[in-house]
Amino acid sequence: MKALPPGSTIGILGAGQLGRMLSVAAAQLGYRTHIFAPDSGPANDVSAGYTRGAYDDAEALAVFGSHCDVVTYEFENVAADPIAELGRHVPVHPSPGALAIAQDRIEEKRFVAEMGGRTAPWRPVRSPAELDQALAEIGCPAILKTTRFGYDGKGQARLMGPHDAAAAWEAIGARPAILEALVAFEHEFSIVLARGADGTTASWPPPLNEHRNGILARSTVPAPAAVAAQWTEAAALAGRVAEALGYVGVLTLEFFASADGPVFNEMAPRVHNSGHWTIEGAVTSQFENHIRAICGLPLGPTGLAGTRVEMENLIGAQADAWLTLAAEPGAHLHLYGKSEARPGRKMGHVTRVER
Ligand code: AMP
Repeated sequence: MKALPPGSTIGILGAGQLGRMLSVAAAQLGYRTHIFAPDSGPANDVSAGYTRGAYDDAEALAVFGSHCDVVTYEFENVAADPIAELGRHVPVHPSPGALAIAQDRIEEKRFVAEMGGRTAPWRPVRSPAELDQALAEIGCPAILKTTRFGYDGKGQARLMGPHDAAAAWEAIGARPAILEALVAFEHEFSIVLARGADGTTASWPPPLNEHRNGILARSTVPAPAAVAAQWTEAAALAGRVAEALGYVGVLTLEFFASADGPVFNEMAPRVHNSGHWTIEGAVTSQFENHIRAICGLPLGPTGLAGTRVEMENLIGAQADAWLTLAAEPGAHLHLYGKSEARPGRKMGHVTRVER
């Protein structure tokens, strides 16, 4: 792939905070960004162009594509077929094939297992009868998760016993799902990996990820020894997945650190909240390396820029502390420009780097 010259336009599907931070990284390298989304959002404030349209509106996507030299996404819950069609007119990275796999919990679990990854025992569930059968096979406690369109713990219900089956099925909207055994884990961590157009890969040291109410609350690097011990195996798996998909861009795999080794949970075909710490905490950020990869530039180094880095999400009313945080020496405050601080909404984050 020939490197895209500065001044080229990168199209981004999605207008959220990931698109905003991708746009900032793109601007630094001399590129322009053009957003495609049904409604404007945090990314629009920092992007030169905008096409409003539904993610499955082929006509609007074609207009968008005509403005772009390359297209990427910051949001994976988009219909894969129109994106594949768009890919016939303009390069799309990561590829629509990788997107299709990462959108579907069944596809991604099968794919990662084929690559040698360990997953929690799971069964597909398409009806209450299949749920009963899966419960008999998997046992409890277990989690029912919709196969598609889940994020931040949404589309999930926990089951402590068979008596929870009907309520769990209703809670996830009676949609195709998987029943997954609850993993006994000590820690959660992620591998954020970039793969360049030339096939070179670089991954960041894995953060320890702590969740509250199914939403990432904090990422810390370096992670404790129990995670560090599983780093090599998890990073090698992520590398094989990226290679097999012919992936270009940043790919994230989430893991549970269990006594048996890393257990793959899910993957995201994009930059990830657990990689926000890399903006100030790594030599090259996940956003910059994603832009570098999709534009055909060499990847930057991914080592730590300090001795310890902590990224804390500002969820809902936590962002009200912005002035206090802005006054804290060395705290890097990021606000996403969202006007309404609804509970559970990611409003910003703050990163602290110990040198
Ligand atoms: P997910 O949307 O699959 O990332 O799930 C959100 C969060 O729920 C995870 O980060 C875990 O904290 C928890 N979780 C999901 N699946 C499991 C599992 N099989 N065992 C234990 N905890 C889980």
